[in-house]
Amino acid sequence: MKIAKIKYLTLRRFTQIAILALFILGNYSIATLKNVQNKEELGIFGGNIESLIGDSSSVVAKEASVFSSIAQGNLSHAKWFGGIFNLTDPLAALQIFLAGGGLALDVALGVLLVVFIYGVFLGRAYCAFVCPINLVTDFANFLRAKLGLNYAQHKLFLPRSTRFVILGISLILSAIFGIAAFELISPISMLHRGIVFGMGFGIFAAIAVFLFDLFILKNGFCGHICPLGAMYSLIGKFALLRVYHTLSACTKCMKCVQICPEPEVLKPIGKKGGALKTMTCLRCGRCIEVCDDNALQFSILNFTQKEKR
Ligand code: SF4
Ligand code: SF4
Repeated sequence: MKIAKIKYLTLRRFTQIAILALFILGNYSIATLKNVQNKEELGIFGGNIESLIGDSSSVVAKEASVFSSIAQGNLSHAKWFGGIFNLTDPLAALQIFLAGGGLALDVALGVLLVVFIYGVFLGRAYCAFVCPINLVTDFANFLRAKLGLNYAQHKLFLPRSTRFVILGISLILSAIFGIAAFELISPISMLHRGIVFGMGFGIFAAIAVFLFDLFILKNGFCGHICPLGAMYSLIGKFALLRVYHTLSACTKCMKCVQICPEPEVLKPIGKKGGALKTMTCLRCGRCIEVCDDNALQFSILNFTQKEKR
């Protein structure tokens, strides 16, 4: 397989796994530091860190402090590089705000930075490059294709707009009941916390998403249900990073439409050139990878210009 055919897939897997690894190291290191300071048994991995690593307290503490300064927290709110900047999940923050909770300055700044990064540049790329559930749903999609389930009858009709309705309901419920409603049941938070801090019931949420996408609805969770994906779609509606379609190079094979998790984004394929403007595009690059005619590529600045014919 040519590397160009999986370059975005490789990049996505690298960023997703690297982010998880940094969170694991960061949070594990904090626990280690506390353990060394308190000379207590380390709870989360069930053993004493010195016996686990076979090192002296001072060396362990020094190494731990390096990792603990890279990433602390979780996907809802994280401190990066010792607090040089924070990144906050805008949906979690909005729910907490509507529920009547105050937002600390670092949390509010974290929201602003996330909105700036995805709103101006990356669009809904969080879903393809950061979210751990994407690993689960991509695997379900892979198996669906292998098992021929894509050709089976749809067992459930659920409009893609449902996710925006769920987003609205989550916010209303948060305001009415004074709780961050979606956070209570979010498979994203459950899976992320499970991977970083130790898996509990979160595994069942991930399995439910996997089975739903595999047997019931293609791209079911991310494409139809997830309010966080809907939130990032809205935030990134006018983002600069776009998929650009060169009409003159297109042979209308429609491989891109078949692989795209949000096929309505590719409606102009074979009909109209230029940058695709639909907000639900994940910037996953799958359409670009499967196009053998170089009719699709990422474009940053020229999304308003029409293709010259
Ligand atoms: S749609 Fe939701 S679950 Fe899917 S990748 Fe995006 S944030 Fe994650
Ligand atoms: S249009 Fe391309 S980059 Fe956007 S979601 Fe579809 S396959 Fe991914």
